[in-house]
Amino acid sequence: MSLRRVRVRFAPSPTGPLHMGGVRTALYSYLFAKKHGGDFLLRIEDTDQTRFVPGAEQYIIDSLKWCGIAPNEGVGFGDGPHAPYRQSERKPMYRQYAEQLVRDGYAYLAFDTAEEMDALRKVAEANKQTFAYDSSSRLHLRNSLTMTQEAVEAAIAAGENYVIRLKVPRDEEIRFTDLIRGEVKFNSNVVDDKVLLKGDGMPTYHLAHIVDDYLMEITHAIRGEEWLPSAPGHILTYRYLGWEDQMPAYAHLPLLLKPDGNGKLSKRDGDRLGFPVFPMDWSDPSSGELSSGYKERGYLPEAFVNMLAFLGWNPGTEQEIFSLEELAAAFHIEQVQHAGAKFDPEKAKWFNEQHLRQLDAGIIAHSLRAQVAEQFGLSADDAKLSDAYLTKAVELLKPRVQFENEMPRVGSYLFEAPKEFDQAVIDKKWKPDYIPFFEALKDTFAAASAQDEASIKLQFEETCAAHHLKPGEVLQLLRIFVSGQSGGVDLFGMLALLGASECANRLTAAMEHAVKKA
Ligand code: GLU
Repeated sequence: MSLRRVRVRFAPSPTGPLHMGGVRTALYSYLFAKKHGGDFLLRIEDTDQTRFVPGAEQYIIDSLKWCGIAPNEGVGFGDGPHAPYRQSERKPMYRQYAEQLVRDGYAYLAFDTAEEMDALRKVAEANKQTFAYDSSSRLHLRNSLTMTQEAVEAAIAAGENYVIRLKVPRDEEIRFTDLIRGEVKFNSNVVDDKVLLKGDGMPTYHLAHIVDDYLMEITHAIRGEEWLPSAPGHILTYRYLGWEDQMPAYAHLPLLLKPDGNGKLSKRDGDRLGFPVFPMDWSDPSSGELSSGYKERGYLPEAFVNMLAFLGWNPGTEQEIFSLEELAAAFHIEQVQHAGAKFDPEKAKWFNEQHLRQLDAGIIAHSLRAQVAEQFGLSADDAKLSDAYLTKAVELLKPRVQFENEMPRVGSYLFEAPKEFDQAVIDKKWKPDYIPFFEALKDTFAAASAQDEASIKLQFEETCAAHHLKPGEVLQLLRIFVSGQSGGVDLFGMLALLGASECANRLTAAMEHAVKKA
């Protein structure tokens, strides 16, 4: 690694909501920058105005914030020394570099019209070929390589539209070292003469990102695999601009694949299989179509980034649960796999479950209060909304759910008495002989002064003994009578939280309701 300060950019185009693959690119860039004590910056690549989507830039900013991977420089995060960070605002900076390349013989002006290009494409298609503007075709086309100097000047004077294209040499080997893939080689004959500057004076991505990476002193460019075929053109552009020794190290990330491994993960897979592919909800400004996000589904941001980090990378140890700081410390870009990474929606939920368990119960309780109050119609001063009660409820429920927002539903019996009982299990387990036992237990609970878990357990055991019952015979019935359900949170923890007198009330109601049916 060079001695330059590490500077890594995330450079999305605001063409829609950021896909989770894009968030992973941002995450790896962030982790790499943090690991090396460097800078992480956000540059908005909006040179293709035809694909601009209103709201997309803000969505990108909000998503990075939610994930906790905020850049320390760039659009939406406080401008740094290289402002502006939006390419459309940098437009006047690019032309000089395209012109420098033309002057030095590494680029040329192409006057071919859109119609002419279309016609060439159609002819190629008819011959089952693809048209490429490259070293094999450019000498048959209308450009400054085939026209005289006077003809070029006349065309410009007449206001003819032209683009500037990179002049890729013939039969050259272009190599570079990718941080993930090692040495990569291309023959220049497969590289086309990319447009660098468009007719309207706007640069293309191919020129703009190079100029910006150079001016912004970027040392590492981490991006999706779809850019690998363009990389040789980018290497040449650096070389021809005389910046090769400043070229950032490139890392091309593997694709995210569908759960079955067949092809790229798309929004449609998410819709079909019921998982989000976006970090946050997104409503398409033109169609109004809604796409759901991890945030609104109830994922914790730390679980989402942990899961994403493992889509294509792992530390080579057993540990899977990492905080963001731990990820930054453990991350090595060289360990990123070459092959596509299969997305597993169940594993995503598992990551959430693990992070949820590590989260402080008091914090979860605080964030659940409003949901619980609303769902069960509790008034603000209800004891069940107290910090102590909610925190204990969360502690009981934590091992039983994958998402915080499932807690009120899964543990509804902690907030209201059951209205229904698992009758099938009651029918199987119930014996009329148990009536005196439950009556006695109810009375014991009703009269209990101590309400803690140990006392309640002792009262239960003593009542069992007095009725010559083994606890195992009546435990599940007791659970159903109090909670309605045959499974759930730790039984004595639940009884203690509800309190002995509430348990007594519920036993009375249950005996009337459920046992009569049995
Ligand atoms: N604007 C490009 C994109 O959104 C960025 C590629 C890069 O990081 O160089 O894919």
